[in-house]
Order: sequence, then structure tokens, then C-alpha cells
Amino acid sequence: MRALQYSSFNGPVTIEEMPRPVPEDPDALVEVRRSGLCRSDFRAWTGGDPDVVLPCVPGHEFTGIVRASASTPALVGRRVVVPFVMACGDCPECQRGNAQVCRFQRQPGFTDPGSFAEYVLVPRARVNLVPLPDAISDDAAASLGCRFATAWRAVTAVGKLRRGESMAVFGAGGVGLAAIMIATAMDVQVVAVDVNAKALEMADRLGATTVSITAKTQPGEIADRVRAFLPDGPDVGIEAAGSAALASASLLSLRRRGRHVQVGLMDEEMTALPIGTVISRELAVLGSHGMAGADYSALLDLVASGQLRPDVLVTGTVGLAGAASTLIGMGGSSAANGIRLVDPKS
Ligand SMILES: [Zn+2]
Ligand SMILES: [Zn+2]
Repeated sequence: MRALQYSSFNGPVTIEEMPRPVPEDPDALVEVRRSGLCRSDFRAWTGGDPDVVLPCVPGHEFTGIVRASASTPALVGRRVVVPFVMACGDCPECQRGNAQVCRFQRQPGFTDPGSFAEYVLVPRARVNLVPLPDAISDDAAASLGCRFATAWRAVTAVGKLRRGESMAVFGAGGVGLAAIMIATAMDVQVVAVDVNAKALEMADRLGATTVSITAKTQPGEIADRVRAFLPDGPDVGIEAAGSAALASASLLSLRRRGRHVQVGLMDEEMTALPIGTVISRELAVLGSHGMAGADYSALLDLVASGQLRPDVLVTGTVGLAGAASTLIGMGGSSAANGIRLVDPKS
């Protein structure tokens, strides 16, 4: 099969011929239809992710067709999405229904060969294959593996956003735009913050009020500008850019007893946050990491019915060669161009 691969961080990304994986029970083989180019693929290529094993076939957000699966034969031939946190199904977290933080998780494109390839081996088919309704297109399904599902869980299950509340999104890349779409579908007022005019244009089209900043705008000023539209502050703040300054801006902007949800991956483990404000305003600081395969049904219903449209966030599709150049060119911007997809067959 053909696959993209890199053998050193920041090194060349090339198309390679490699053997098609052979699944052994309880694993499955999925033929990739569409794969999203997510900013964490870029972060992995730069060496920013400690879990990456070299040489690496990148790509972790995909949809495809099950071609072999001894443990779930009924799914062979079905279209599926695979959560990027591929869980073990057995550890204490999985047993408690929290497969998104599985102790023994594997991730395509990081610990395991990824989806910028014609085929991907998926461990533990029973836990990690999520069958898709026919009404969901490949374009809509791809981002359900990472960004759209991550946004869904961050907004609904972790941020616990409710109708009548308000939300601010810091970073309007794929996750941020998905979060905006999910919140506006709930008739929630949303303010979106980004440095990139194109990202804010898309946020505006999705119904958000936009705040344009520069890389130098200070957290306190960003918070003030969010509060110009939401005087009491947002109930929920979603940080989706992986920026310590934006995380601080979110916390400073929040309404008293508000919830900050950190989704964006930061390059540094330690960071300074306005913890005095966290105490005096009784703010919650929450992390959100993907979504368990068992938790997809409500999201799939809303996408199948057209109430949520991940496909409108798609701004283009490239083949493997295009994916290589797009991947290494993702630095600098906040993935501001919506969601770009890879079709490994083209
Ligand atoms: Zn991702
Ligand atoms: Zn587990």
C-alpha cells in the first residue's frame, strides 16, 4: 500500500510503498476513505509529541471501510469512524466508561502507523470501530475521528454548555469552528477569538461574534474585548489553539463560576495561569481529550439529521503528495483554513 512517512522530526515526508497490515484478532483492517489534516499531525512531525515512534506514518483523524475484523464480522464492509484514542477496553478507565483517557491507549499517527495511508490497522475492533449511518458523508465523517468529536465532548460533556448560556472560543481552527457550530446549534451566543482573518470569517459565517487579535495582544485585553460582547463573561471558555496566553484570556473573561475547557495541546507541560481569579470567581479548569467510541451515538444522530454539518468546515481535499506539503506547511497559522482532508487514493 501507499503511505506517507517521515523518519526524522522536521525531516522529509515522503510517499512510500509498504506492506498492507495483516490484522490478527481482536484487531481490524480499515481501508481509508478520508483523513483530516489536524494540527497535532504537524506538532508530531516537529517532535512536539513525546509519544511519536519513528519512522512515523502520520494521520489520526479518518473514516473508512472495514476490510477485515475477526472479532466483529458484522462490521466488515461497513463504513466506520475510529476515535483517535484507540482504547484497550480493559483497563480501569475503560471499565469506568472513560476510554478517551485509556491507560494503554494507542494513537494512529503517533504510537502506531496512521491514516495518511491506504489502510490502517485498528486495535481492539470491538472498542474502536464506530459504525456510521449512511446519511453521513465521508467528508462529514473524517473529522469525527478527532476534531469534531473532541469539540462535541468539550462543549457538551465537559463544558456542560446549556441553552441560555454563552460561550467564548479561543482559537478558531478545526476544533474551535466545530465548537462554534455545536454551540450555535443550541442557540447559544458565541464569541470567537483568533489572530487569523480567514478563521474569523468562517466563525462569523457559523454565527459567532468575532474578536480579532494579534499574537501580542495581552490576555487581560482579550478578556475585556470578549466582555464587550458578553458583559458578565461567558459561561464556558474553550481554548482550542494550545496557547497559554489564550488559556489565561479565557479564565480572565469567564463569568463567575464559569468553566474553562482546555482542548488545545500546548508545547510546554508547565504554564502560568491566573489562579487567583480561578479561586475568587470559583472557576473550573477542565481538560478534554477526544471522545470514547461508546459515546458517539448522540453526535452521530445530529450529524446524520443535518443539524450539525462537519462537512461545511471542509475547505479542500488533497492526495498523499498534497498532504505531505500541506503537513510541513502548517506552522505559524492556527490551522486557520478550516478542515483539510486527504484522500489517500488520489
Ligand atoms: Zn487531531
Ligand atoms: Zn483502557
